[in-house]
Amino acid sequence: MKKRIMRFLMLNIFLISLLLSLCGCSDYGQLTKASKNLSAYNLDVKIDDINMQLLCNQEVDFINNYSVLLDKVCFNMYAAAYREDAEIVPYTSANQGKVFPNGVNFGGIEIKTVLISGQDADYKIVGQDNNALEVKFGKSLEPHDSVSISINYVVKLAECTHRLGYFENSINLGNFFPILAIYKQGEFIIDPYYSTGDPFYSDIANFNVKIEYPEIYTLATTGKVTKEAINGNSKIAECNALAVRDFAIFLTKNSCVFNKIVDKTQISYVGYEDDVNFQECLDAACKALTFFNKTFGKYPYSALTIVKAPFVHGGMEYPNLVIISDSLTEEIDIVKVIVHEIAHQWWYGLVGNNEIDEAWLDEGLAEYSTALFFKEHMEYGLSYQEIVNQATAMYSLYADIVNTVQGNIKTSMKLKVNEYNSEYEYSYMVYVKGVIMFDNLKEVIGEKRLLACFKKYFNTYKYKIATTDDLIMTFKKTSGYDIEGFFDSWLSGQAIVGNIS
Ligand SMILES: [Zn+2]
Repeated sequence: MKKRIMRFLMLNIFLISLLLSLCGCSDYGQLTKASKNLSAYNLDVKIDDINMQLLCNQEVDFINNYSVLLDKVCFNMYAAAYREDAEIVPYTSANQGKVFPNGVNFGGIEIKTVLISGQDADYKIVGQDNNALEVKFGKSLEPHDSVSISINYVVKLAECTHRLGYFENSINLGNFFPILAIYKQGEFIIDPYYSTGDPFYSDIANFNVKIEYPEIYTLATTGKVTKEAINGNSKIAECNALAVRDFAIFLTKNSCVFNKIVDKTQISYVGYEDDVNFQECLDAACKALTFFNKTFGKYPYSALTIVKAPFVHGGMEYPNLVIISDSLTEEIDIVKVIVHEIAHQWWYGLVGNNEIDEAWLDEGLAEYSTALFFKEHMEYGLSYQEIVNQATAMYSLYADIVNTVQGNIKTSMKLKVNEYNSEYEYSYMVYVKGVIMFDNLKEVIGEKRLLACFKKYFNTYKYKIATTDDLIMTFKKTSGYDIEGFFDSWLSGQAIVGNIS
């Protein structure tokens, strides 16, 4: 009898492990583990494309994962930056014409009701530019305890080519919902929506999102659609995403969708019907995922979508979703943007950082990761060395011009995004100098050690938030080199690049 039970158990264990290996559940297991005890959003979004607004009901099961008592919580409301009386807007005056091709117009967010565990809550709009929502619990919340917060609101969309808005055949819904702010050193981080960089900072969470949208659109979202239904002229999609830092939705008309499975991840390219280079885009995305999986560590999610949309910048990253601007025409530029934005799935998505205070951490890493990709993929006719040489030449030229015009130059890579003098200064210090710095580090510690440092940094901080100090300490320990001085001089602006500091 015992023997038969043993045999039965062994058979079951064998079948379960076979099943796990067949459906790639080891990654699913890792995600399930990462998603435990996270705050969860249950979001109901109805997209009204007649009045161009979103009718939203958002329930947040907030878990106090901090080690202190909390009596309130704050949500960043990036949608508020599009309202008419906003003092800090998410675009520069130089870009205003590109953001509003049909003239400046406005959007915004209106909070209708806020409930705590079903009862009216004490809430107010806070922040330097009325950019956040503060909700009081009416009691102290112990660490590990949770509370349910329901927010009913309407988001009005501006006609624009920005992260949030509608233009021609697309509706871009990036950073549209009130998202939990991170609590640090006694306060919630509620920076306004600056025009420079991607000024966001959030923890990972779980999402269940129901989206009702006109059926004429193709839907692209973070996570995966788990259920679909038709309701008259609308489609209703239910989406699920575990352990992600944000949730974005993009809708496009006249689209075509192409899929390919790579390393157990379904890669989808959502392009325009008349796209001639969809195959190249899909191929580049597949190659990027394969390369970064191998170089940094496995992307644990089962979906990654690349969507083409009207967008003022070249591209933008969201968890499981990247957008590429339809204004890009040169194939090599499109490939560069796809690779860069996919690199952000590792540096921003999985390893999070404060993108306002330490933008170099995700942008410098994503840009250098792109250079590494081209080192392996010579078929694009752009070599790693060309990218580094171009970066060095561009940086020197920029520094020369600024020195001539201003008499001095700020070369710190560690400023807050709003402290850079211009978008140019931000780009050169964060992206361009990031590439030059990591290439220089490669010369100091060798390529093998540098790649080991990236891997260790990824594995140590995935699903978490890392800081500059975390990166330096990880690189120091992994390489065995005393490299604090190296990073200090580069980041503070004392290192010499060519003839220019
Ligand atoms: Zn980037």
